[in-house]
Amino acid sequence: MSNIDRRRFLKYSAGGLVGVTLGSVSIRAFAEEHLSEDDVTAKALKYVHKTPVEGSMCANCMQIKGKPEDEWRGCNLFPGKLVNANGWCAAWMKKPA
Ligand code: SF4
Repeated sequence: MSNIDRRRFLKYSAGGLVGVTLGSVSIRAFAEEHLSEDDVTAKALKYVHKTPVEGSMCANCMQIKGKPEDEWRGCNLFPGKLVNANGWCAAWMKKPA
């Protein structure tokens, strides 16, 4: 491989890497919108942003994902959506200690 070919290869490789990185960021941003209480599945599971059940909330449910300090986090039951840490739904199950 000549020096010019190598430079061209590195240039396009770096460009591709940036494109893939930016692409995944935009997909991630698109995929992580807040779950609406009007969502069909949310309604079926009686999801609400503020728990009606003392001591039971998304933050201490075994289905919650993400960082404990985040107000909106992923949930295994609602792929691509974020639930409120203070929310609740009928599928709540206590997270093991
Ligand atoms: Fe919240 Fe229900 Fe998901 Fe548990 S399963 S984190 S209670 S939305």
